[in-house]
Amino acid sequence: MKSYRKELTFNTKSRRALINITPQIEEALRESGIKEGLLLCNAMHITASVFINDDESGLHRDFEVFLEKLAPEKPYEQYMHNGYEDNADAHLKRTIMGREVVVAITEGKLDFGTWEQIFYGEFDGKRLKRVLVKIIGE
Ligand code: ZN
Repeated sequence: MKSYRKELTFNTKSRRALINITPQIEEALRESGIKEGLLLCNAMHITASVFINDDESGLHRDFEVFLEKLAPEKPYEQYMHNGYEDNADAHLKRTIMGREVVVAITEGKLDFGTWEQIFYGEFDGKRLKRVLVKIIGE
């Protein structure tokens, strides 16, 4: 069995961002040389997510509105976590959107449904953040 590991880095200009990272994941898969197996991709931070959904701008706006309804950024003082930080909303948003995805690798490709794409969801950006890609198989 082969094993491959890679870290991707992100430093978004805005506090929140959704980035389609499917091209970087496909590049990692090519580098791994693995044709059959499993790919894990997870955010290495507790204020960011990796998830699979549609690359459609209206939906991305809907995610922002949905998450702001459930865990609004402001007022900061509404959260007990915001004593030394202002990112309680980012922790909550990350928990809603999830930590990681697992994708089957078949014949050297991500074995996706028609509209599936992998996204990095940043909820407390403007600093360097890491995403782990781990691939096992043969
Ligand atoms: Zn925090």
